[in-house]
Amino acid sequence: MTPIVVPAEPLIYAMSRSHAPVVSVPDGSLLTFPTRDCFEDQIQSAEADFVALDWTRVNPATGPVFVTGAQPGDALAVDILRIEIGAQAVMVTGPGLGVEGDTLQENTVRVYPVQGGQVTMGSVQVPVQPMIGVIGTAPAGEAVSNGTPGRHGGNMDTRLIQAGTTLLLPVEVEGALLAMGDLHAAMGDGEVSVCGLEVAGRVTVRVRVIPQCRWPLPMLQTATHLYTIASALTLDEAAVLATKHMSAFLQAEAGLSRADAVGLLSAVGHLQISQVVDPLKTCRFELALEILHQLGIPRVADRSKAH
Ligand code: CA
Ligand code: CA
Repeated sequence: MTPIVVPAEPLIYAMSRSHAPVVSVPDGSLLTFPTRDCFEDQIQSAEADFVALDWTRVNPATGPVFVTGAQPGDALAVDILRIEIGAQAVMVTGPGLGVEGDTLQENTVRVYPVQGGQVTMGSVQVPVQPMIGVIGTAPAGEAVSNGTPGRHGGNMDTRLIQAGTTLLLPVEVEGALLAMGDLHAAMGDGEVSVCGLEVAGRVTVRVRVIPQCRWPLPMLQTATHLYTIASALTLDEAAVLATKHMSAFLQAEAGLSRADAVGLLSAVGHLQISQVVDPLKTCRFELALEILHQLGIPRVADRSKAH
């Protein structure tokens, strides 16, 4: 099947139910999203004037895509099949930005070549591990800026949202209204400078509607693990929320008591940091699929209408 190429424009800067879909597709469609980098490709060299950037054009997303049949209360499974990235990656930091932003005196812009599966950062070769920074559906309520993560997904900046995984997002409005952008050639947990290795690119996905989702989302399923992803004003609150979401999943799916669910998570689950630099911070909770198998819980990403 040849992917449907999602129109690259107009770009959107928030996830909103009021955005007109750029395309409507059936459940089960294969789609390719061409994406700009998080600065909308305004930085093409290290000499770019960081202050003079048009800051209304940051974190653009491609979409939204209307998925026929997706109804509020469903989940949208996004099978991330392939992430292709551009030939250079941008890294910035400066005063007020990132973990060192309290002491940095000036903005720094670096542009690094991407070639042969490596990003060359000075004398260091960094293996390319492409991931999606911004990916979400439209919230039922107010629009959410693409700079901010939340229950709808958005700017989750979670390293594991890579090819070969399935992301489950909530459907809060008819058609789901999926959009994405902000690819990174690589990013460490924390995203401590304020950004990843920012790149333009193309993401190929399959979208599937999972009816009547009863668990807190977003969730990510990899080949080996299931993750809840949660964002909140502080890292502490995000950590609690991600854990409670996995506990709620075990309670709903395996009938465990709250005490037994959190006890199991305490024994074999892993609470992890995704990012500490966005307006809301993001944590995730990791549980091995093997544990879910022992509990008799079918894989969440496999429960769709279309095949
Ligand atoms: Ca981001
Ligand atoms: Ca980014």
